Amino acid sequence: MNIFFSKSITLLTGLDKAQLLKDELGISTYEDLLKHYPFRYEDRSKRSTIAALHPTISGAHGVQLEGYIKKLQKIEKGKKRLIALFEDETGQIELIWFQNFSWVIKKIQPHLRYRIWGKPIFLSSGYNQLVHPEITAVISHQHKKPCQLPLYHSTERLRKNQLDAKAIFTWQKKLLDQVGGDIKETLPAYLLTHYKLISLQEAFKNIHLPSSQQMLKQAQRRLKFEELFYIQLKFLKIKQRRMEKQASKAFQDLALLHTFYHNHLPFNLTNGQKKSIRDIYRDLASGKQMNRLLQGEVGSGKTIVAFIAMLIVMGSQGQVAIMAPTEILAKQHYERFYIFAQQLHLNIALLTGNTKKKEKEHILYRLQAGILHIIVGTHALLSEGVIFKELGFFVIDEQHRFGVAQRAGLLTKNKDYAPHILIMTATPIPRTLAMTFYGELDLSTIYELPAGRKPIKTQHYYENSRLKVFQLLRAQLALGRQIYMVYPLIEASAVLDYQNLLAGYESVVRAFPDIPVGIVHGKMDSMARDIEMKRFLKNETHILVATTVIEVGVNVPNATVMVIESAERFGLSQLHQLRGRVGRGGEQSYCMLMTDYRLNKAGKARIETMIKTNNGFEIAELDLKLRGPGDLMGLQQSGILNLKIADLSTDVNILEAARKSAKNIIQQDPDFQHPLNLPICQEYARLIAKIGSWDMIG
Ligand code: ADP
Ligand code: MG
Repeated sequence: MNIFFSKSITLLTGLDKAQLLKDELGISTYEDLLKHYPFRYEDRSKRSTIAALHPTISGAHGVQLEGYIKKLQKIEKGKKRLIALFEDETGQIELIWFQNFSWVIKKIQPHLRYRIWGKPIFLSSGYNQLVHPEITAVISHQHKKPCQLPLYHSTERLRKNQLDAKAIFTWQKKLLDQVGGDIKETLPAYLLTHYKLISLQEAFKNIHLPSSQQMLKQAQRRLKFEELFYIQLKFLKIKQRRMEKQASKAFQDLALLHTFYHNHLPFNLTNGQKKSIRDIYRDLASGKQMNRLLQGEVGSGKTIVAFIAMLIVMGSQGQVAIMAPTEILAKQHYERFYIFAQQLHLNIALLTGNTKKKEKEHILYRLQAGILHIIVGTHALLSEGVIFKELGFFVIDEQHRFGVAQRAGLLTKNKDYAPHILIMTATPIPRTLAMTFYGELDLSTIYELPAGRKPIKTQHYYENSRLKVFQLLRAQLALGRQIYMVYPLIEASAVLDYQNLLAGYESVVRAFPDIPVGIVHGKMDSMARDIEMKRFLKNETHILVATTVIEVGVNVPNATVMVIESAERFGLSQLHQLRGRVGRGGEQSYCMLMTDYRLNKAGKARIETMIKTNNGFEIAELDLKLRGPGDLMGLQQSGILNLKIADLSTDVNILEAARKSAKNIIQQDPDFQHPLNLPICQEYARLIAKIGSWDMIG
């Protein structure tokens, strides 16, 4: 096993600095340090000459020169500085230091040849300067620096304590000097051969001290592969264990489904919906527990898929539950299902945190007695008191963060067999992410929207076009349509945001005196919110001013305009989610993005993307590129995904290769018993010992 990895960095750095490194960067072992990878490299393989310096070709990332220092001049007048005249075979340039230059004076020797590195400044006088260059003496040609100089993330506090990127580099070198066959290989030889991967030891050496550009690439590839491989292995292992252990009841009776399908289904299903239902049916009938993720664009019709699946389970006496993230959504599901339930003579109830005590007792009684067939609710469904006679199927709507551990909690709801689970999400997850996070889930995707929907028109307006926007709104109101107006509400600036929301509401009321306007936000109690929501649903109010509480799932087909205020402050996926609230009927719908003049680059990119495409999957891919996967999924904080080197937005090929290998291995040698898989057996055990049980974090 890799004992080397678990050695404490105090051995290297001393106690004080070790504590700092731990606090600031979470580095406490040799492994942590080795896996504190450079975020960028400076190309030091190329040498330039002074004559060749030119504003258009040199600059951004600095240049490297070699030559002699001809003159040193300390200037005390005005801004204190040290100026050196540096000369190579082609010309002269000024080096300037404004601070800490006493060491320069001490160090410089006139006869020595120096290699310097810095960003040139091109003065209009034609005389060029390098400010605060790095300088090293060229002692002999054996003393070679890596051609790619690694740059490491450090922090303000670390830098204050002389723990800058350079110090980190020095330790990396020290550490790598000590390594002599200590880093045990973690991948089996046949994988290294097959994918032409270099050894782990070589990879660590070259990621920190690249011997060539080529070797750096090899090192990156190897380390990315390794990282993704073990994540996949973990997920597949969980999945495999589930397949082995979680037997479930097989539900195959389609009579109820057929009754509904032929007599009550109000529309034709899309191909994506049909395919998803087939996927689900196969699982439900298999006798193994279903753990499936159903993803599909907002408005793609996931709810009806869930309902039809429920019918299969109820057809064989299983009870079903659907859990929504908010009360509004739960109610909406309840109301939709209620109509169907009536038609099919099924008993249904709604349970939320606000259900009155008496009613709740009644519901719980009927649930336990098996009188209730369907229960719709919020997180209240998970509480202990909620006991089923026979829970066969649990649907989780719009909660892609519902993890393995929470799902495991559902198992206690049925003592005889593991209930089938379906998770639905309208946040389209790029394929790479789905493969990584939901490696242990099966995936169904609805790519299309029901026929007859017109694509939503998205437009961008600056604040000064508000009058024009209001005119457009008036025209839609005149057609009898309804409008959403959404304001950002962000924890950090909640008070201010709340004021903006109210001010916005007042200005709308003033601008549209003849129009009933409603408002919903998180500070209202749920009853008031509910009343407002209902009024909008019933077309009693025509404009709804709101925060993102309306983001998820709410369905008002008559609403055709979504105005998003301060749109630059929303994330791309969130903007897309909000846009999905309109365009649900047959009418042309609009999304109007209002922004400030001062749009930063990222904000601009998000707005442009929204205008360019209506495709949620494309948006999810772009969001991933713009924000990075951790941010995208809110998973960085939760610690589920902590990729150190792989980048899911660019490393798809490596991910696929890693996944394929992991799959093969799990199939052929699930417990890593084959001698060839010894490295996996050891590394897997080490990782599990380190994190505790992996089940808890998946
Ligand atoms: P989401 O996938 O976002 O949860 P919903 O299930 O709320 O979407 O469906 C959105 C709307 O589309 C609902 O009003 C629903 O009745 C309707 N719908 C669903 N499937 C179809 C279909 N195949 N044809 C027409 N309308 C459909
Ligand atoms: Mg939905």
